[in-house]
Amino acid sequence: MLNPTRNLNGLSASNNGQHANGNGNGYGKELIITKPAEKLAIESAVRTILDNVGEDSGRDGLAGTPDRIARMYDEVLGGYHVDPVKLVNGALFDVDYSEMVLVRDIEYFSMCEHHMLPFYGRAHVAYLPTDKVIGLSKIPRLVEMFARRLQVQERLTHQIAEILDDILAPRGVAVAVEGQHMCSMMRGVKKEHPVMFTSAFLGEFKEDRELRKEFLTLVR
Ligand SMILES: [Zn+2]
Repeated sequence: MLNPTRNLNGLSASNNGQHANGNGNGYGKELIITKPAEKLAIESAVRTILDNVGEDSGRDGLAGTPDRIARMYDEVLGGYHVDPVKLVNGALFDVDYSEMVLVRDIEYFSMCEHHMLPFYGRAHVAYLPTDKVIGLSKIPRLVEMFARRLQVQERLTHQIAEILDDILAPRGVAVAVEGQHMCSMMRGVKKEHPVMFTSAFLGEFKEDRELRKEFLTLVR
């Protein structure tokens, strides 16, 4: 992580307006706090977009927008900086249970990598434990980790399946994802908004048609 107190890119406190505690602090020394270089770059890019779609990035309503968007990306694209090992944090439990474990209706919000517009919906995740199960709250957090990146729904689906396979070494994993994509809803003339459905099957779910059917019946 970048040191937020570093004066980055040669920007001085007087020309970027990022004074956190400037003159008059009584200590004769200015504490200069600048934003990380990545944030400033995003802000500048947003200003460029605004000025090139016919807006005035300096007008009142938009003046704070570049900063808001840069901070929003921290959250909605924060999945790049999550460590799955830390996220799971040892929440794996030995059990004598070999039936399907299913977590249904996990709400997610993601951003399509083609248009940087949201897509969102629900994910359904199942696995067949060998000897371990994962804490219930961890699966939605793993979904969120991958959703909060620039994605295509197909890859999101596969990444969820693969991380569970890595973490749990289960006998099988099944993931189904439903998504509505703003890029197709907002563009074009169609007024219907189809839900896209993707799935990924590993291990016994891949081999056993009946098992797959059982999973799909449970989630649809
Ligand atoms: Zn798109």
